[in-house]
Amino acid sequence: MQLPWPGQSSLKSRLITLLLGCNTLLLLSLTLSFIYYQRPASSTVTTGSTLPHFASFQLTLALLGSVALAAFLSRRIDRIISEPIRDLSRKMEIVSRSQDYRVRVDRAGEDELAVLFACFNNMLAEISIRDERLALHSEELELEVAERTLELSEVNRQLEASLESVRDAMQSAQSANRAKSDFLAQMSHEIRTPMYGVLGMTELLLGTDLTKEQARYVDTVRRSGEALLSIINNILDFSKIEAGRMELERIPFDLHQLAADAIAVCAEDAARKGLELTLELEPGLPRMFVGDPGRLRQVVVNLLGNAVKFTLKGWVRLTLAASEPLGLVCFSVEDTGIGIAPEAQLRIFNQFTQGDESMTRKYGGTGLGLAIARQLTELMGGSLELASESGRGSRFSFTAQLEVHEEATRSERCCTALRDKRVLLATDDEETRAVIGDQLTSWGVDMECVGDAPDAFCRIVTAPFDLAVLDHRLAGTDGIELAATFRTVPAGRSVRILLLTERDEQCHSTRLAELEATTFPKRALRQDGLYRAVMAALGMDEEERRDAGCCGAPAPRQRQVLLVEDNTVNQEVGKGMLESLGCRVKVVEDGAAAVSEVQRTRYDVVFMDCQMPVMDGLEATRRIRLWEQGSGTRIPIIALTAYAMPGDRVACLEAGADDYLSKPFTCEQIAKAMERQLDGVATTMAAAHGEGEAEPAAVEPLEVISHDKMSGALEIIRTLPGNRGMEILRKVVDLYLASTPALLQTMREAESGGDAEKLKAAAHSFKSSSANLGALRLAGVCMELESLGRAGSTEGALPLLHQVEEEYRLVRDALRGGPLC
Ligand code: ADP
Repeated sequence: MQLPWPGQSSLKSRLITLLLGCNTLLLLSLTLSFIYYQRPASSTVTTGSTLPHFASFQLTLALLGSVALAAFLSRRIDRIISEPIRDLSRKMEIVSRSQDYRVRVDRAGEDELAVLFACFNNMLAEISIRDERLALHSEELELEVAERTLELSEVNRQLEASLESVRDAMQSAQSANRAKSDFLAQMSHEIRTPMYGVLGMTELLLGTDLTKEQARYVDTVRRSGEALLSIINNILDFSKIEAGRMELERIPFDLHQLAADAIAVCAEDAARKGLELTLELEPGLPRMFVGDPGRLRQVVVNLLGNAVKFTLKGWVRLTLAASEPLGLVCFSVEDTGIGIAPEAQLRIFNQFTQGDESMTRKYGGTGLGLAIARQLTELMGGSLELASESGRGSRFSFTAQLEVHEEATRSERCCTALRDKRVLLATDDEETRAVIGDQLTSWGVDMECVGDAPDAFCRIVTAPFDLAVLDHRLAGTDGIELAATFRTVPAGRSVRILLLTERDEQCHSTRLAELEATTFPKRALRQDGLYRAVMAALGMDEEERRDAGCCGAPAPRQRQVLLVEDNTVNQEVGKGMLESLGCRVKVVEDGAAAVSEVQRTRYDVVFMDCQMPVMDGLEATRRIRLWEQGSGTRIPIIALTAYAMPGDRVACLEAGADDYLSKPFTCEQIAKAMERQLDGVATTMAAAHGEGEAEPAAVEPLEVISHDKMSGALEIIRTLPGNRGMEILRKVVDLYLASTPALLQTMREAESGGDAEKLKAAAHSFKSSSANLGALRLAGVCMELESLGRAGSTEGALPLLHQVEEEYRLVRDALRGGPLC
């Protein structure tokens, strides 16, 4: 807007005019005053008083005039300047209070104030225009917001609709996934059942009289079946992992056994290729763990299988070691095979991928094994790694986070058959001493170690030992010579000898037989066979092992077995296998029939299929367990299932089954499962009958050596097949007579030292050996001592100890004069 420029009658000119007027008046009055004060003094006196009066009048007039002028001026200034400014500030206040920009200030003229007012008015006009524009704009904005909101709600609606459809899609994907998993489960059942039929029947067929050619054909069928089953398993496993349905079990298992089993699976192939296949268990590695043994075994067997497959000569080694934190186990499979090129090392862990595609035809395989193995190890909280060099071999290692089964490990230690056996180890080799020492101690053996032959001989003649483990390369002599020296003295004649041999020392077999020494290769010390070798050296047959609380052999009595199975092929296979194990088998077709059959007839064990019409195995098991509550019996039930889905085992066990077998199974697996159950029953029954030991509390007076019991003890030994009975009997008696003084001494010390635990252990050992020889009276007194010790006291032990010594003298005389004559 154009502002008026101040004209002639501007504020400034008016003020100047006013000021000029004032100045003139002031000048006038000043001039008059000056004239008055400048007149001569005489004249003042001479002219009399008229002039002064006139002058002062004039002055007063001038002053009054000035005052009036000033007042006039001030009024003028007020009207010209102050009044409009006040008006302006009033209007400004109104504007600021009411925000009303339509207010205007009036001022005519062209002076500066008029210009200022005009500017002010202009500004207000501008502001109100801007306000209007703003209002307009905000209206537009509101309209736009409303429009956008509409659009947004439309988008929201569309989003919700798409979310809804995504939810629908997700639901249908989930149900499709569920259907896929169910389909897989069903497939697994459907595929495995006929495979089970094929493999089982083939196994039975192989046990019949076949011509060489037929046997070869059947063997090929078996191998192909096994290969097909392994491929099917791989595909099913892979699908299960992909569907996120792979779940691991958590059950107790024996890790050492698992490793030995895995080695056994590959042993035949390795032997065929002339490969040395070894297992190394780190000394001190716990035995019992909680985890998924099936999946663990699958990974180990896969790696071992590959190692054997891709190794043409040399060796394959499986090593197991414990690591930190507790329960973490490191597995490694090493081979001296063809190795893997660096560029293939990453690729081979992908599914359907092989190291060298050109070799596929030569070696076969699906390329799924390592992919599954890696996923499984990750599920087990570990990782799978590879170190390999082309042409020099490979090393696959993986870890698995397991849980140490403390309770089982403890009880395993307590019930080992070797507990409290006295073993003398003669070796000057540090490593041998450490390895054997660790293992024997972990089995509860009471071990002494010597570093040379003279020391060994001294120990043998001064203390009774059950077993002497002699290093064949012993400083001062060799093991065979030392064994021969042992045999020259009575104490050394009864001791069992296990010779640790080098590879080239197998040729002394005749000499070893003469000395009745058994052997064990030193290079296999870290492997799993030492326990069996020690058991064998001690002559602890299966029966004795069971007495000592360990797993036993299948019972000689014909077992009565109920097989519950609806599939006729499976019925045939199961029945055939069980009969080949010497069992009498009754087959029923469903769970309901099984329940009534169990109530009617007493069976030693029931093999129960899980999936059956009418009533499934789980329900039948539950009903049998319910019925048993009132009947006071408990039949071992072994669940059978072709469903390899997770949770099956848990479901079976929860229903009341004692064990679980996954189809297809072998005769050996059936036998082992039965062994486990029937042994368990035997142990329980024995425990219920006072540990199945001698009956010292018998009412009738007992002879020193019971001749009734002789038939169950000394007589059995004497009449052992192979005309060696007498010889063995002599050894047994020698051993008994040699070991009892030390036991007596221990009992005396325990009594005088008030050591109840020691008393219990020594009395128990004395009781068992005495009862085994039919010395039941002596065993009875020992049992009283043992009971004292078990109750944590040694009070009243002394008279019993005297009685034991008295009895022992009689027994010793009876033994010397009786069975040995
Ligand atoms: P496959 O079932 O075909 O053997 P894997 O996934 O188990 O599949 O193995 C993939 C590939 O990894 C094999 O084809 C082979 O090339 C390579 N491989 C695995 N283990 C070894 C080994 N110990 N030595 C050499 N190559 C190996």
